[in-house]
Amino acid sequence: MIQAKIAETLNSNQFLQEFEIKGWVRAFRSNRFIALNDGSTINNLQCVVDFENFEEEILKRVTVGAAIRVLGTLKESQGSQQRVEIEVTELEILGDANPEEVKLTILSPKRHSLEKLREQAHLRVRTNTFGAVMRVRSRLSFAVHSYFQQNNFHYVNTPIITGSDAEGAGEIFKVTALDLKNPPKKENGEIDYKKDFFGKETNLTVSGQLEGEAYAMGLGQIYTFGPTFRAENSNTSRHLAEFWMIEPEMAFCDLDRNMDLAEDFIKYVVYDVLKHCKDDLEFLEQRLENEEKLKPKAERTEMSLLKKLNFVLENNFKRVSYTEAIEILKNCKPNKKKKFDYIIEEWGADLQSEHERYLVEKHFKSPVILFDYPANIKAFYMRLNEDGKTVRAMDILFPGIGEIVGGSQREERLEVLQSKMAELNIDEKELWWYLDTRKFGTCVHSGFGLGFERLVQFVTGMGNIRDVIPFPRTPQNAEF
Ligand code: ATP
Ligand code: MN
Repeated sequence: MIQAKIAETLNSNQFLQEFEIKGWVRAFRSNRFIALNDGSTINNLQCVVDFENFEEEILKRVTVGAAIRVLGTLKESQGSQQRVEIEVTELEILGDANPEEVKLTILSPKRHSLEKLREQAHLRVRTNTFGAVMRVRSRLSFAVHSYFQQNNFHYVNTPIITGSDAEGAGEIFKVTALDLKNPPKKENGEIDYKKDFFGKETNLTVSGQLEGEAYAMGLGQIYTFGPTFRAENSNTSRHLAEFWMIEPEMAFCDLDRNMDLAEDFIKYVVYDVLKHCKDDLEFLEQRLENEEKLKPKAERTEMSLLKKLNFVLENNFKRVSYTEAIEILKNCKPNKKKKFDYIIEEWGADLQSEHERYLVEKHFKSPVILFDYPANIKAFYMRLNEDGKTVRAMDILFPGIGEIVGGSQREERLEVLQSKMAELNIDEKELWWYLDTRKFGTCVHSGFGLGFERLVQFVTGMGNIRDVIPFPRTPQNAEF
């Protein structure tokens, strides 16, 4: 007897052999054909039962959602839908699913909206769409590690609870063990964090970059791949409160090589899933096409999912300086006709996602790397250019997603970093250890952060970031 997953069974040539398969019933047609799925592939296994050989009591329990065990013979299928099927000799119900109750859930066999599926996030993984997305997500994670491991990067786990807020963005979740109803107070009435668990204020990390830099200064090339948290109250289709970020950091590496690496990395992982997740991607392409058909023509994307992925592989990302981008935006139609919410008037303006999308989707029609941003709209640690007003920052912008990567060459000169921190009122005492990295063998170094869910969104064609992570964390929602 061969115990196999459905993915293996569907490819097997061991005809007339006994197979044992366990999975969940997707459908049971004509009291004869069970469509079985075990999560190993998007494709179901057809299990054929001769109802005369089985007790009616058992057959009645073969219902949508039930877990069953099937023993049977692998045969060439008579039907045209599948190559092989299992002729069932033994059938065991492992876990019933009451049809009356199933009817009230998303397991019921009809079309449910993505919004509805979100309300039952614990069950949606049993749908074709979420099975496909989550298998692709899993493969992408593996490809991330493969890429870096093959290229001599070391995987570093930076802390999740930190005492520093890297971006100074303020959109942080505080971590405390104090009794919030009755916290210890200082004389001036403020909460006394000296009495808290860590003896200071702490928060969930928004980025592992600063710690990553310290480690690149010893291991040479590192990457992190872990959860990050932002309490930003932006209810968009691209923001989560808890998301996974990939952050490589390289010693002896300037911005140009940083851009090369980011582009090469993205191409590698896209190539890898195209190669290993063909069935899932073809299904997701079809899903996207059906979704697009419901939109007015003008809003539809021109490229199918697989075309879009291949386009990214085959074309160089357009590298454009911030200054060039501003010129394009200042003179473009939607800006002149005041179609943008934020009109671009002069150099120095921060780009909104409407501007990024215009550049990527309308002007260049390709992924774009914008670099050399004005210093005052970027973080304190970015390398100041010789012009004294721009920094060696880069953002990679993708069609449909907007920003997918944010990175920079870091300011390696101690005095320049110190004066920048002073300018922004960042206390040196808070980041004494970070400044140490500039005192002991400082060097040119660079890195970037890539939001893993935005990558999964791009690869799967899912429009909402809530649909590419198993249990999304967003404002007003921490169910499951
Ligand atoms: P955005 O302008 O889209 O909010 P950001 O400038 O805040 O992005 P960074 O701080 O540079 O982003 O973070 C690095 C990467 O992390 C981004 O390029 C993006 O891919 C991802 N990212 C940032 N914020 C979120 C979020 N709230 N949810 C999911 N991914 C995010
Ligand atoms: Mn942000």
